[in-house]
Amino acid sequence: MTEAKKPVKKPRGKARLIEGRCIACGARCESSCPVNAVSMNDAGEPLVLDDKCIGCVKCVKVCPAQALEMFFTPEEQRILDELAKSAQVEVEEEDPEAKALAAKLAAYRGVWVFVEQTEGEPARVSWELMGKGRELADAIGTELVAIVLGDQVESLCREAFAYGADQAILVDAPVFRHYRTEAYLKALCHLIDGRKPEIILMGATGLGRDLAGAVATVVGTGLTADCTGLAVDDKRNLMQTRPAFGGNIMATIMCDKFRPQMSTVRPHVMPLPERREGASGEIVRVECPVEERDILTKVLEIVKDQKGKDHVDVAGAEFIISGGRGMMGPDNFAILKELADELGGVVGASRSAVDAGWMPHDRQVGQTGKTVRPKIYIACGISGAIQHLVGMQESDLIIAINRDKDAPIFEVAHYGIVGDLFQIVPELIEGIRELKKA
Ligand SMILES: Cc1cc2nc3c(=O)[nH]c(=O)nc-3n(C[C@H](O)[C@H](O)[C@H](O)COP(=O)(O)OP(=O)(O)OC[C@H]3O[C@@H](n4cnc5c(N)ncnc54)[C@H](O)[C@@H]3O)c2cc1C
Repeated sequence: MTEAKKPVKKPRGKARLIEGRCIACGARCESSCPVNAVSMNDAGEPLVLDDKCIGCVKCVKVCPAQALEMFFTPEEQRILDELAKSAQVEVEEEDPEAKALAAKLAAYRGVWVFVEQTEGEPARVSWELMGKGRELADAIGTELVAIVLGDQVESLCREAFAYGADQAILVDAPVFRHYRTEAYLKALCHLIDGRKPEIILMGATGLGRDLAGAVATVVGTGLTADCTGLAVDDKRNLMQTRPAFGGNIMATIMCDKFRPQMSTVRPHVMPLPERREGASGEIVRVECPVEERDILTKVLEIVKDQKGKDHVDVAGAEFIISGGRGMMGPDNFAILKELADELGGVVGASRSAVDAGWMPHDRQVGQTGKTVRPKIYIACGISGAIQHLVGMQESDLIIAINRDKDAPIFEVAHYGIVGDLFQIVPELIEGIRELKKA
């Protein structure tokens, strides 16, 4: 008879910083720590408190510079070596909390995209999100579901299939004819309660921002607004990237203890996926317990936004010629308008130009302006501050004109022209006119 081997507890070790490796990425290790064992010093480097660290390895995994490692005492190292040598039974420390959390999270499955519509007209951002949703759903092996709420909006389900959805959940009733927070909130929370999605994406439009915040509050989960990047890690956590601290860093935010994981994304941030003509999927009609008499808000009249004849849709334009502080004054924007007219485009601006009163705010491109994704973006006299770049760096082709060869705009530009814009822009206009004549 062989003697049963005594179970040995596998040491977890403690995290520690490898001297000189930290790149001060913005405290990703600190925010990943579940027990607040990591704090940051003035240089932006982590200090790990040994008495708090539980050896969960989260900070080590999240570090983009591999600047953290696990450290074991000589005794712990001896046990690890023995475990490796012998076939001894190793016992992971039982963590009932972690087990319960894992079971709670596992109950949530599926990526949902909320299909925003106004009087049956879908918002383009919903289809842009369908493309990203497809990518996320494929990465974690789950289905992509379109959430269609409205009155007589079944056709949007078929449109959602064309943009990549596997299934559409349709809530179709007169009470949802016009968007009202209460009605849509109740319906969406009812769906989440019953069907438990793991990810919900919404457009960062006026409607989307209003609804997403309300839903996240009621279901008790996290919401990351205005994401510019979305991906999933090996634990099905949504890595939500967005500018933080005034746009000075890009922060990756995770909601690893709650579900669903909710994000909003501004229009034009994600590319529009190709339409798959004739694609089909399953439409699931759901009745939601929302009655007109329960809704306090009543829509008496719809007053359409009266956009003046001078209104320019910078966000939707295919060619944008933007001017910055280098334009030196409002009148000089006339040469950009001339160039824009030749290309069939519109004139945009940096915040400096807008703050100076040279251009209206609806032309501003960037973090606090519009996010654009034109075919061609020409930046004239714009230095390329990060807050400007986050709004235009996904353009198909970027041309920068700046007299400073070291201007950061050249780092994202496909073509850079170093020189005086007042000489170069008129030459460009002339060149285009000659080409057209030819
Ligand atoms: C919270 C926050 C949000 C922000 N949001 C935005 C935003 O949405 N959008 C945005 O744009 N900014 C935003 N900013 C401001 C941003 O940080 C920059 O200050 C701004 O983008 C700079 O504008 P600019 O490039 O026009 O001006 P500058 O940085 O002053 O650059 C002017 C450039 O023009 C060049 N130049 C001058 N004369 C000529 C010439 N004759 N020919 C060629 N080149 C010339 C110069 O070399 C210089 O590079 C934000 C800032 C903060 C803090």
